[in-house]
Amino acid sequence: MRRAIDRLARRLPEPLEDLAWISYNYLWSWTPGGSELFRSIDAYRFMVAGENPVRFLLNLPERDLLRAATDRDLLDQLQRVAQVIDADLQRPTQRVLSNGPVAFFCAEFGVHQSLPVYSGGLGVLAGDLLKEMSDQALDVVAVGLLYRRGYLHQRMSLEGWQHEYWLEANTDLLPAVRVRGADGLPLRVTVPVWDGELAAHVWRVDVGRTPLYLLDAELAENNPLERWVTARLYEGSPEIRLAQYALLGIGGVRALDAMGISPALFHLNEGHPALAPLEIASRTSSELAGDRLGLEKLLDIGRDRFVFTTHTPVPAGNETYDPDVFFSVLGRSVDQMGLSRDELSSASRVDAAATTEPLGLSPLAIRSARSTNAVSKRHGEVARTMWSPLFPTVKLDDVPITHVTNAVHLPTWMAPDMRDLLTKFFGADWELHANDPGLWSHVDEIPDVELWRARCDLRLQLVEMLRSRIVVDRLARGEDVALAESAFSAFDPTHLTIGFARRLATYKRLDLLFHDVERLHGIIDHDQGVQIILAGKAHPLDYEAKSVAKNVFVVKRGLETTNRVVFLEDYDLRVAPQLVAGCDVWLNLPRPPFEASGTSGMKSALNGGLNLSVLDGWWCEGYNGRNGWAIDGSTVDDPEAQDERDATALYELLESEVKPLFYSRDANGVPALWLARVRESLRSLGPQFSSARMVNDYVNQVYRPSH
Ligand SMILES: *Cc1c(COP(=O)(O)O)cnc(C)c1O
Repeated sequence: MRRAIDRLARRLPEPLEDLAWISYNYLWSWTPGGSELFRSIDAYRFMVAGENPVRFLLNLPERDLLRAATDRDLLDQLQRVAQVIDADLQRPTQRVLSNGPVAFFCAEFGVHQSLPVYSGGLGVLAGDLLKEMSDQALDVVAVGLLYRRGYLHQRMSLEGWQHEYWLEANTDLLPAVRVRGADGLPLRVTVPVWDGELAAHVWRVDVGRTPLYLLDAELAENNPLERWVTARLYEGSPEIRLAQYALLGIGGVRALDAMGISPALFHLNEGHPALAPLEIASRTSSELAGDRLGLEKLLDIGRDRFVFTTHTPVPAGNETYDPDVFFSVLGRSVDQMGLSRDELSSASRVDAAATTEPLGLSPLAIRSARSTNAVSKRHGEVARTMWSPLFPTVKLDDVPITHVTNAVHLPTWMAPDMRDLLTKFFGADWELHANDPGLWSHVDEIPDVELWRARCDLRLQLVEMLRSRIVVDRLARGEDVALAESAFSAFDPTHLTIGFARRLATYKRLDLLFHDVERLHGIIDHDQGVQIILAGKAHPLDYEAKSVAKNVFVVKRGLETTNRVVFLEDYDLRVAPQLVAGCDVWLNLPRPPFEASGTSGMKSALNGGLNLSVLDGWWCEGYNGRNGWAIDGSTVDDPEAQDERDATALYELLESEVKPLFYSRDANGVPALWLARVRESLRSLGPQFSSARMVNDYVNQVYRPSH
């Protein structure tokens, strides 16, 4: 790390040298004033550099650096930010467990738009957790994979079909460094995959105080197929995925070992890292040389070091594999670890005795870990039902799966304007105890006019972003220039703005809004306007989701008020912060009970947005009758009947509650009753769904359970 920082520092004029070490730790991205620092040097170039400060500074012309080095305001700001970051990093570490750190394993991490190793909710949650663990100074290390091409980028065709493309990251320009061994050479780990040894280097990314280690198979010694293992996230091919999971689970444990890190506890997120316990088990087995213990006994010995979080109640999130495919990729690994293929197969099936059942990593993870948790209360219930066959002798209510409800990292997701407003009434450093409900009662002291001004500013910033983005989206897919141009004036910064942005999986029901196009048209086409922003990516192989998006596209174009409903392409961490901050209403319309948690609504709530959501996932815990709106979350066997019922409920709420409340104004032009709801939303949801509460729950209930 030192070497990389020095290389960057040598490029910088002396007064700017602190920018070098600041750039190599993502802490700048959630420190107040951090991103303004880079933006004030050259906002346009910083944006073009994907807000990656290393790339930005390495590419910045010398004359701009020299000019910045004489900017007094900038230098003062640099000194302030450097002090804050340095003080944070100097704090003493809080031990979670006495005998070593917690190792957090996940297939994706959504830390920042410039680190392309995430796709959606799971990754963003993992990124938020690492940041909060850093804020609490906990001793945690994280392990994942460095996908150089990351997740797909999205373009929509004129006909509404999603097209995908991938961009390759230049690792030289990432705020990441290759870990080196005592000999000064890059640390190298290998894992038997297919017929060879898959080799990987390890990169280190600093997420505040939390080191994130990413394994990378892009090495000359690997063949092109092996190199592809860390090319892209969520590859369609089962063979590539299994190779990725071998590298993550087995390679991850080996990498930590090679770095001299001995975790007291491994936290496995989703089934992807489920081979890690096998690697630990096989070490135990070789220590007990000679004694051939069965797999179950071996897992028993390591069990106390593993906890597992399941993040999805949808089958696609719990992939299964044909045993032949499974062992064609992992067979040699399993053999070399001294494990029996038959025993491993049984442990990877829901019904251990059903030899025709395909193999899954989630059953293996549940059987290997000392505890399993879901990510909301309702998801806990669903997960207990879903996995109850794994516990045939246990009553349904006693299936040992608990829950820790997800939350979001407040400094990442609360827009600076809102944070400044709350600081005025909550006091300095309030973020450190954001999970204290007493603190949030101060929202009552914020005058209507100020709260409304903050909301209007955030909406305006979103509208400005949309105007330019939509023009470019339209031109790029070949729309008429006139239609593209009409986006300049399409959005009204005073109109009720509704957002729906999430992964385009069918169960999320993007199309529910369009269930009755006439009725929707009546809602949006009115003097008291409504504008709707849609966004989200479908997995490349999810043709069903792609055709839902296509149909929505066609219907949307048919609306005369076509500019009031827009689809924003390529939803990711670049646009999400502005979307969740600027929308007045955040929609979530999953087919219950398939939403494990949902976190984007929490981000909206932190910015004074109001949730309108099906009672599923987190909203079952969040909704209190006064802080947003709810649609019945009970399940109906006939999906069409359910869509009809839920769409009708949605339209009724929009017509009879949401619009009237937003547009009834007092003498100051302020919607007082709307703001009362916003206050109630902030007060009730702020403390409960900030990541401080979530990390406390993980530490107290999962990492250090009271026996
Ligand atoms: C928060 C977030 C998600 C997850 O949103 P859900 O509400 O869980 O669907 C997905 N993608 C991005 C870019 C996000 O920021």
